[in-house]
Amino acid sequence: MTDPYDELTVIKAKVDHRGWENIKLQQSYKGLLVEGSQLILSIDDQRQVRMVNSRHYIGGIDLDTKPAISSGIATSMVRAHIAVQKEGPNGPTTTKVVYPYAGNILLAWKVQLFAHEPVGDFIYYIDAQTGAIINHYNNMPFALNQIVYDAASGTTFPPIASQIAINNTPAQGTGYGAADDIEKAIYDNTTATYNFWAAAPYFRDSFDDQGTIIKSIAHWDNNSNNASWITGSATGHGYAKYGDGSGLNGPTGNSLDVVAHEFTHGVTGSESGLIYQGASGALNESISDIFGVMAGQRNDTDWLVAEDYVVPADLNVALRSMSNPTAFNQPDHMDDYATPDGGGSVYDQSCYNATNYDNDCVHINSGIPNKAAYLMAAGGSHHGVVVDPLDGAIAASRVMMGRIFHLANTTYLTNSSDFFAARIATEDAVKSLFPGDMDKLITVMYAWLAVGVSVPVSASESAYASSWVPGYNHRYRESLPQNIPFGADSLAMLSLLGCASYRLIRRPRANTPPAKSTKA
Ligand SMILES: [Zn+2]
Repeated sequence: MTDPYDELTVIKAKVDHRGWENIKLQQSYKGLLVEGSQLILSIDDQRQVRMVNSRHYIGGIDLDTKPAISSGIATSMVRAHIAVQKEGPNGPTTTKVVYPYAGNILLAWKVQLFAHEPVGDFIYYIDAQTGAIINHYNNMPFALNQIVYDAASGTTFPPIASQIAINNTPAQGTGYGAADDIEKAIYDNTTATYNFWAAAPYFRDSFDDQGTIIKSIAHWDNNSNNASWITGSATGHGYAKYGDGSGLNGPTGNSLDVVAHEFTHGVTGSESGLIYQGASGALNESISDIFGVMAGQRNDTDWLVAEDYVVPADLNVALRSMSNPTAFNQPDHMDDYATPDGGGSVYDQSCYNATNYDNDCVHINSGIPNKAAYLMAAGGSHHGVVVDPLDGAIAASRVMMGRIFHLANTTYLTNSSDFFAARIATEDAVKSLFPGDMDKLITVMYAWLAVGVSVPVSASESAYASSWVPGYNHRYRESLPQNIPFGADSLAMLSLLGCASYRLIRRPRANTPPAKSTKA
């Protein structure tokens, strides 16, 4: 780089969780922007440069910046190429840029043209010396691209073009076409799910956050009671497929929380990639239930999964309940963690009897993290542990719980994370989202403790703790913090919990009558 002051312009600067300042810079050449050439400079809190991401910086540019063709000619070429019928009100914009493309450094006119017919926000790069079209694309942020297929009770996968029932993509426009009611319901529920994830606080563009087309298959198989998500590594897309149900159960795609549940499998697939077996599989299921319930909630006390799918809906029956998993044959504590051994508990037996042992009980053991998530949002007393909700207002509390699980899913979980790893991940998430808020951290910790997901302690920690707390359970770090006495021992306990900065615990719990407030 010959002259950083000349060549680089600051676009924005962001301070991250470590206190490092990350400065994004744009390269330019003789006053022209070099397309796609940004750098990031990371400076730590001691003002030391720690990292430079200059992968896209282009050195040694030597280019004549005087164009042979005018911007007006470039614009007419673009109009002709699009065959535009109706343009947007503000007309096209043209910018002279340096455009690195396919190994060449070219002087180009960047033309941006917004059009109603055909629909698009068209970006063109025209070679400013030769007039050739170097590259072009449609930058239109289509809010929602989805296709619903009609499997006609078959199991053809992937579906073929002649099975398309509804096509809402840039190529095809919008509308139901000749779809039937079940296909329309899937379409509408998919739209609602997309909008749930696209809005605050998640701001996600489709399941993979890349705006990928959502493909749904209606009438899957013959009266199947199942809905599922297929991660389409072979096809480059995710697919949801929905059976029409049988007997007491209606079409699975009629239930918004079922559709949102399946879609969330796509979110998890593109984020943590939790392996769909055993504990990681149950966690994967739980994350789908969490966001399925929130996307499809009737109100802030709705914790039922698929209540619209099981008919008649007004009997308030469902497939699962996050607030009361045991009511639907799921455990709500690690003591009852199911293994498909054919004997033992009712939970063990039910996954033993399921197809493929339910991948080692993924739809059974999901009750445990489901209950933990419920307790974070709604609070409550469970197995002797009193959990305060994240927030006093249930609506806000639900959203906070969602943000915690989503950050864990996108950032802290790995594909083989188990429940304990989920506990650590959600603790990391709450620390990151609400720095210094020990009340919220303790809520998350206690919620996991209440379902028996506890932190094993080292022998020395255990000996130390038992020396001052009678009845301390040596196996688990938090077997007791419910009734921590105020005073020095509380501080010691809290430092074991990683909460050294929290002065004294002052938690108005039902089973802990505090003498007076000691919160500083
Ligand atoms: Zn599922």
